[in-house]
Amino acid sequence: MFGAEAYGVELSVAEADVQRLLSVTPADVDSAPELSFARNVFVPLTTACRYTCGYCTYYDPPGEAELLAPEEIRRICERGAAAGCTEALFTFGDEPDARYDRIHDTLEAWGHDSIHSYLRSACEIALDCGLLPHSNPGDQTREQMATVADVNASMGVMLETTAEVDVHAGARRKEPGRRLATIATAGELGVPFTTGILVGIGEDWTDRAESLLAIRSLHERYGHVQEVIVQPVSENDRWRRGSPDVETLRRTTAMARAALPVGVSVQSPPNLAPVRELLDCGIDDLGGVSPVTDDHINPDYAWPGLRELEDIAETAGVPLRERLPVYDRYADREWLSARIAAAIGANDAAGARYRTLLEA
Ligand code: SF4
Repeated sequence: MFGAEAYGVELSVAEADVQRLLSVTPADVDSAPELSFARNVFVPLTTACRYTCGYCTYYDPPGEAELLAPEEIRRICERGAAAGCTEALFTFGDEPDARYDRIHDTLEAWGHDSIHSYLRSACEIALDCGLLPHSNPGDQTREQMATVADVNASMGVMLETTAEVDVHAGARRKEPGRRLATIATAGELGVPFTTGILVGIGEDWTDRAESLLAIRSLHERYGHVQEVIVQPVSENDRWRRGSPDVETLRRTTAMARAALPVGVSVQSPPNLAPVRELLDCGIDDLGGVSPVTDDHINPDYAWPGLRELEDIAETAGVPLRERLPVYDRYADREWLSARIAAAIGANDAAGARYRTLLEA
């Protein structure tokens, strides 16, 4: 289903489950007893991307795309660690294709034959600076993900939608089957994983229900999905077709909460969504707040400060709790690599801070 078989993943969603989910409204779900967030620093490793999604201002065309140098990665991570961050959020375009010869030449000059090899060294820098890596390198093969899995506390890719939408079409079509296969690969490799849906890119209500149920199905198989983001598409220089209205977001968020087990968090990003109007729709996480860097994926939408997150939690009448990029329920030997477990258990300031958040 959804083209996943082409990538070796059997997946099916029952029509009765779709119909049940389509009947869910905000009145059918409970508010969360607390809200969580992570303190992160954005590290935009490369703006090269093999795709050209119609709503995206992150990617740069060949000739303009950038690759962050190791010393710049270290500088950003050191700044983040000094500001109390725990997460180095490595953002990417999807794997640079053959058109990005300058990126490939630079990688080679720096001693890397792939962007994943370079990502691994970037994660090492982050760990060295006292941050836990969380990487979002887009679609990945098993071999690519295995290259970096043990140096990440968690990883992610947005499913966005199981539908074939126009904004993902073109010469370099972005396929839902590949993203589903990436999520499945994370499960096979035991990587705590973040995914989500993008609302308002041409999908309909059935597509939203099917997307959420596809995520649920993969989580039921592997138990590895730690959170699902419900993200509205936002206006920017490349997208002038508007954002979904509040009622659409309320219903979609409630559907996410109803579709997913309690152990999977539902996140609403406060710089992109009207979070205060979604508090009764089952969200329990506000994503990352960055005290030192912009949201490079959505540069027009400033991250709310910590004070604003506290205010949102106050509005909801629940406590606000800081978390690590790996959720507490995945911070054990079953899910953490030896490398990440050692960083969390380390007898240094970073290790002490990680453990304080886990014990909170
Ligand atoms: S949304 Fe991601 S995959 Fe699509 S063009 Fe932007 S960076 Fe590339």
